Amino acid sequence: MKNIETIIKNQKQYFFSGETKSTKFRINQLNELRKAIQRYEPEIVGALKKDLNKSEFEAYSTEIGMLYKEINFAINKITKWMKPERVSTPLTHIGTKSYIYPEPYGVSLIIAPWNYPFSLQISPLIGAIAAGNCAVVKPSELTPTVSKVIYDMFQELYEERYIAVVEGGVEVSQKLLEQDFDKIFFTGSVNVGKIVMEAASKKLIPVTLELGGKSPAIVDESADLMLAAKRIIWGKFTNAGQTCIAPDYLYVQKEVKDELTRLMEDAIEELYGKNPLNNKEMTRIVNENHFNRLSRYLVDGRVIKGGKVDRNLLAIEPTLIDSIDWDAPVMQDEIFGPILPILEFNHLDEVIENVRAHPKPLALYMFTETDQNQEKIIESLSFGGGCINDTLIHIATPYLPFGGVGQSGTGSYHGKASFDAFSHEKSVVQQTNRFDIKFRYPSHKYGLSIM
Ligand code: NAD
Repeated sequence: MKNIETIIKNQKQYFFSGETKSTKFRINQLNELRKAIQRYEPEIVGALKKDLNKSEFEAYSTEIGMLYKEINFAINKITKWMKPERVSTPLTHIGTKSYIYPEPYGVSLIIAPWNYPFSLQISPLIGAIAAGNCAVVKPSELTPTVSKVIYDMFQELYEERYIAVVEGGVEVSQKLLEQDFDKIFFTGSVNVGKIVMEAASKKLIPVTLELGGKSPAIVDESADLMLAAKRIIWGKFTNAGQTCIAPDYLYVQKEVKDELTRLMEDAIEELYGKNPLNNKEMTRIVNENHFNRLSRYLVDGRVIKGGKVDRNLLAIEPTLIDSIDWDAPVMQDEIFGPILPILEFNHLDEVIENVRAHPKPLALYMFTETDQNQEKIIESLSFGGGCINDTLIHIATPYLPFGGVGQSGTGSYHGKASFDAFSHEKSVVQQTNRFDIKFRYPSHKYGLSIM
């Protein structure tokens, strides 16, 4: 591989050739991307198994299948998205026409995390390609087998002057952040998000930051508890809780806490078996550091389900912890693992007060059969996105922009929002020469009549 500076210089040159901008080119590249993913499916599934012990089912449902849908959606819409949009003109601009031209930023940098190491690298790239950019992608070093598959696939698929894979860890990432990119798209932790934003600010590079945080699942006394239990357990323990939008903690109304807890215990057994550590399909914790970090939380509060670990396999049982308050260590940072602390509330106002007192969450889930409570939560709390009576599924639709707010992120993507994330909206007024309006000229200089 050439050095980073050379790759970017070559990409800039290639971008200025204009080749990446035509509709046909963009659609061809997306088609090729889809075919390459199809060809590489066994390698992708194998790498996810090796790096995270992801089951084939989870590999397809959370990393591969949705990419095909996103690519097809973009291909079908590109022509419409690319079209300059004619907008109204005010009376003061009589005789003119006004347009918004979506223009690709140029050369983009896309940095990915390890938790969905394939899809979170490719999904933003779909937007970059659809919008006509060149790109450098940097997979996570914590999932090295997936990183290598991405590298191999892209070697076969794209010229480096168009899309390049730069593998490596923190140092490589920092070196990339010193470069003259036209756009940076980062997915990862809040702390590294701050580093990325600081680096980008030095060159005033536009950023999209897809970060994390503590996302609550709130259940009130009117909720359908059976469904709430199952949907919260699925949302929390998919990928062993290593999901940016997983419910981080449960906030349940006192009256229904015992029943919901019992139903969640049943749901864990139904979905992961009586002895989850023997379940060969269970995703493991990414590395020993994270395993140790998570194991320390198991002494907080009172473990009411799960709690067993297997250090050799880096596996932790789906775990429910009760007797937790806001000061507990498990409530200080995003958990990002298979541990669900349970907090209780008496009145919804308490929930609003406590959630407001913390950084704005990436996701929020409200389980209720009461329209009034649903409205109250949506109206009162700021969060990236979420669901009423479900978890996670808001991420899997191209019709909803996905992203955080405040500390959970800035900007959004998916569907049209992905195209927008990699496009600048260039506003152009087209003036007429058939007449000239004299009022704008200073009369003392030109007199009242200039034509
Ligand atoms: P991370 O921030 O540690 O790493 C992300 C990327 O940044 C990696 O490619 C890594 O090499 C690079 N990096 C790490 N330290 C760096 C530094 N000091 N300077 C420059 N680059 C650096 O995140 P992670 O542990 O890979 O992922 C987990 C986090 O990502 C969680 O907080 C999770 O909520 C968040 N996340 C968010 C989304 C989303 O869509 N909002 C999706 C997945 C994960």
